[in-house]
Amino acid sequence: TVTLVWFRSDLRVHDNSALAAAARQGPVVAVYLRCLADWQRHGHGANQLDFRARGVEALGDDLAGLNIPLLHRDIGHFNEAAEVLLDIARHVGAHALHFNHEYPVDEVVRDRGVAAAFTAAGLTATGHHDAVTFAPGELLTGKGDYYGVFTPFSRAWHRQLGDERIALRDTPAPQQPLDIASDPLPTLPALADTPVDERLWPAGETAAADRLERFLRFRGHHYKRQRDIPAIRGTSELSPYLALGMISHRQCLQAVLTENDGQLAEGDAGLVAWVNELVWREFYRHVAYGFPRVCRHRAFQAHTEALAWRDDEAAFAAWCEGRTGYPIVDAAMRQLVETGWMHNRLRMITAMFLSKHLLIDWRRGEAFFLRHLVDGEFCANNGGWQWAASTGTDAAPYFRIFNPTTQSERFDPDGTFLAEWLPALAELPAKARHAPPTDLLGGVDYPMPIVDHKAARARALEAFKALSR
Ligand code: FAD
Repeated sequence: TVTLVWFRSDLRVHDNSALAAAARQGPVVAVYLRCLADWQRHGHGANQLDFRARGVEALGDDLAGLNIPLLHRDIGHFNEAAEVLLDIARHVGAHALHFNHEYPVDEVVRDRGVAAAFTAAGLTATGHHDAVTFAPGELLTGKGDYYGVFTPFSRAWHRQLGDERIALRDTPAPQQPLDIASDPLPTLPALADTPVDERLWPAGETAAADRLERFLRFRGHHYKRQRDIPAIRGTSELSPYLALGMISHRQCLQAVLTENDGQLAEGDAGLVAWVNELVWREFYRHVAYGFPRVCRHRAFQAHTEALAWRDDEAAFAAWCEGRTGYPIVDAAMRQLVETGWMHNRLRMITAMFLSKHLLIDWRRGEAFFLRHLVDGEFCANNGGWQWAASTGTDAAPYFRIFNPTTQSERFDPDGTFLAEWLPALAELPAKARHAPPTDLLGGVDYPMPIVDHKAARARALEAFKALSR
């Protein structure tokens, strides 16, 4: 009999826990369920759907190299998964299904449903904690709670880490060809937005491995110094690949071990700082699982639910379209819309600008990001937004509000990033680009600031002070 592997956000054949476990049992058949309606309901837009579709194609090729057929079904909604998978199991004569866990609540509910349906049918369905080093629940506070603060989580992560946890899972050897043909992969239907140029984000494991190698060879050691400078490609740009599992965090960590004398927490400062970001990624997954209210549009800090967010369509549109008159915010928003990715420093600046300066509900920004990000991933996106809005874990104290102009001067000192994304400002002297003075704007096609920093800051402070804890 054959064993099924259900691929989701783990689009790779190397170091894949579910695939490795299934292959140990015998011949494997791979399944992919395309849930366009639910992914769109969750807010993912054309950029990620296109990247995902190309990732599935690459996966199909890699599986073909192992003689593993890939069956493809369109299901639209998660709640159809159990029935379709059981149907496939009966059809190919499989007794067991393996998959890798996903952690947002709808995915958890879906997978529980699948497991229950398989058990009821006398078959087995096994989930693997593949996308994290520790399963949610394995790292808890002294009181037995999920961590709501990063630093102690990170300390526990490093303390309890053993070699086994991040050992690479076996890649199966090519199996004897089966009498089951792969399905042709359907093209993506037309979506509301046009995806960004696919050459920006070549999909698949090979492209991901190549990015990791180039990052570690050329930029990893400088990461600590360069990671905050958006004009420099100082970060790995692996987030889309990690989000859809075209590379695993174990592959990243193993590569760091090789480069850093077998260490993750000490040694090269750049690599250690990079590992820390991978731990943040894991932290937010534990948060989503341990505090599922955040998956239901709720604030992590319950008392902030009462905040009087403003309805201001004009301001929201200006933010989305990069017309706020704050160059660093506008340049960042253009980078997002035009490339499907935004630098981390800029995600923090733009998110704080929306939620504090404009006092617009962070959930609107969260949704706009998800619609455009190729790396759109619920846990990290929600975590980042709630952090910026001071409603989340590790919440930035509400009174610490970034001054966008100061941030711009500090992290884009030569105005290089601003000039790249706002060509109108390239004509101005570099120092004048951060907050173009009115007299210089005369001949330049660039808007005046839509809010005054000081006044907007005071308004935000007042709104937060009005909350009772
Ligand atoms: P690197 O600096 O090379 O980091 C390596 C990897 O670590 C990243 O690829 C990512 O997987 C992980 N990582 C890095 N920073 C964080 C972080 N703060 N939280 C969680 N994981 C992190 N990241 C996403 O993957 N998807 C999102 O939808 C997302 N939305 C965000 C929204 C906001 C408001 C903020 C402030 C951050 C968000 N992030 C998100 C986190 C971070 O900005 C991106 O992961 C990072 O910019 C991706 O670039 P990189 O791959 O070059 O990162």
